[in-house]
Amino acid sequence: MLPVEHKPLHVPPLEEVASVLEAALKKNFAEAAVSVVECPDLTKTPYNLGAAGLCGSPRLADVGGVPYLMPTVQKDKLYDIKDLAGCVDLPNSFIVGAGAGPHKYIGVNSELMANVVVGDKACNGSRAAKVDAAGKCELLSLPQEQTGCALMLNMFASEGKGGKVLKVQAKKRTGDNNLVSCLRQALESHYGDKPVGLGGTFRLVQGKAKTHVMPDFSPVPLTCNDDVNKWLNFYDMEAPMVFLSTLISRDPGLDLRVEHSHGYGDDRGGHYHYDTTPDTVEYEAYYNVAEYIYRVDKPVATHGFGRN
Ligand SMILES: [Zn+2]
Repeated sequence: MLPVEHKPLHVPPLEEVASVLEAALKKNFAEAAVSVVECPDLTKTPYNLGAAGLCGSPRLADVGGVPYLMPTVQKDKLYDIKDLAGCVDLPNSFIVGAGAGPHKYIGVNSELMANVVVGDKACNGSRAAKVDAAGKCELLSLPQEQTGCALMLNMFASEGKGGKVLKVQAKKRTGDNNLVSCLRQALESHYGDKPVGLGGTFRLVQGKAKTHVMPDFSPVPLTCNDDVNKWLNFYDMEAPMVFLSTLISRDPGLDLRVEHSHGYGDDRGGHYHYDTTPDTVEYEAYYNVAEYIYRVDKPVATHGFGRN
């Protein structure tokens, strides 16, 4: 049994969150709007996710963590999203998120784009991205039964139902913040000590994004951000891409990664850093506000590097 703890989050009304986010986005993008809408059917194009919506018992979970990857990898830190649904008290759930792929199945370390329905309507649309022998990114669709992950996962779970969510639109970046940091910092400066969490999906509609894909495990210990950046493979990836995304305004003492988004296009995928085309970038996102943050298998020995 994995150790699990959880805390309730501050859950402001969606309309209030929308106005906080819109005001911040307008300082960072030439065009921005945040509204409260009925969640579109996310099983349809262009999202093509596992369930229709992001509503019903929404919650975030931070599973494992970077300390299991570095300085030295702990290869026995293996999880299964089917079990994690139980850990967050939602045995029938739709789970999206960003983590490390199942290295036992893939054969090497990888980035995981989790998109899994657990329970009665089980289905698995997860992807993984790995670095091939030539240093290129390779995208894999995981088979239905392969719901494993390793080392770390930031996930948003809900019942996958329709309902009211936040719709975010932003175009032409004028500030320094990426989309996700802009949203998170807006919540942090408005809500202060009260943690507010969001989870869902965004699309890079136009432009390019700087991403990374982890190569196979480092043979030498990685002990600082410089080591990590030399080890990772970075790419500039073209829209359109769908990202699975979580963020929390601040860490209520659970040793969290406060933002994490992974995404994929038709032949590429990875960990989102920021867009590299401010003049042409366009984003569309749907997020819901989480009611709880769960912390699963929190590392005992921790550190702060490698969390960008
Ligand atoms: Zn990542």
